[in-house]
Amino acid sequence: MKNMGWLLKDIKKLELIETPLEKPKENDVLLEVIYAGICGSDLHAYLGEHPFVKPGIVLGHEFVGKVIEKGENVRNVDLNDVVVIEPSLTCGICYNCTHGRYNICKNLDVIGCTKTNGGFQKYIKIPSHKVYKVNEVPLKRAVLTEPLAVAVHGVRRSSFKPGDEVLVIGSGPIGLLTTIFLYLSSAKKIVLVDVLDKRLNLAKNLCPGIITVKPENLNLSLFTQEGPDLVFECVGVDQTINLAIEYARKGTDIILMGVPKEISMAKLIYIQDRELNLKGSLMYTKDDYLIALELLRKNQVNYEALITHIYPFDKVPQAFEDILNYKDQYFKVIIDVKGEN
Ligand SMILES: [Zn+2]
Ligand SMILES: [Zn+2]
Repeated sequence: MKNMGWLLKDIKKLELIETPLEKPKENDVLLEVIYAGICGSDLHAYLGEHPFVKPGIVLGHEFVGKVIEKGENVRNVDLNDVVVIEPSLTCGICYNCTHGRYNICKNLDVIGCTKTNGGFQKYIKIPSHKVYKVNEVPLKRAVLTEPLAVAVHGVRRSSFKPGDEVLVIGSGPIGLLTTIFLYLSSAKKIVLVDVLDKRLNLAKNLCPGIITVKPENLNLSLFTQEGPDLVFECVGVDQTINLAIEYARKGTDIILMGVPKEISMAKLIYIQDRELNLKGSLMYTKDDYLIALELLRKNQVNYEALITHIYPFDKVPQAFEDILNYKDQYFKVIIDVKGEN
């Protein structure tokens, strides 16, 4: 058995290499990767624009696989179980690890992002407590567990209550999944902003009744009370961060879910002057993951509509290029790593 993976060798350069095939230790499982999603942060890394994810790694942190080997202490899964992975590898002993917030572990490593090779490879060894059985969730839909958990975490980081009126900026995968979670959590009104009509239409189809607007048509009168109760920023560029700051009602929360550039020109003056609470949201913990999986199992909206393209494993570089070149036609793209189709 030979392991192969797509190494991000340099900016815009992916190379298929033989990667190590590691024997699982007593608490690990070895997975055969089945499907892996391409995330916005993979694209940022590919372009050399991600502040923390750099070349020298096999990307891919959104994936499902089959357990083909397991260590002697592993109890939560059996051989041949199909699982989704939670890619955060944490130290377990730092302040946040011991206070329920291991997503911000002092020594955080993220599979497919920082040190450990990710899901754009055939096989991967992973600690067994980082895999969850997908049970009856169809596999392609299960690939959405990771980005949906990001959305769940962002909403749970906020002061959101059912009945709130919210503004979501950006209708990429994270913005749309945040919108879906807010929609299913009984937000009274959701105003979703994006520049691409296609993305707004997809959101409208999935969540009937939400208001979708282009930035130039955003208007405070869309809200009952001088502006939204909460703002979710899901893009991470100065323009959209400033849009969030500008439209947040005085005294409310802005949840920053997009990954900004290292240096920002955000208008911090208004954060101070309007007592806005600017809150970061990073990844998720197990609770968020289990909520996401359960939502996917319930299937209250057509999650599959997010997956616009599936590429075979040998076409990973093509997939990256196509997403960047045809932004308005591509949404969530998954790689058929095992060759199921
Ligand atoms: Zn992701
Ligand atoms: Zn830690």
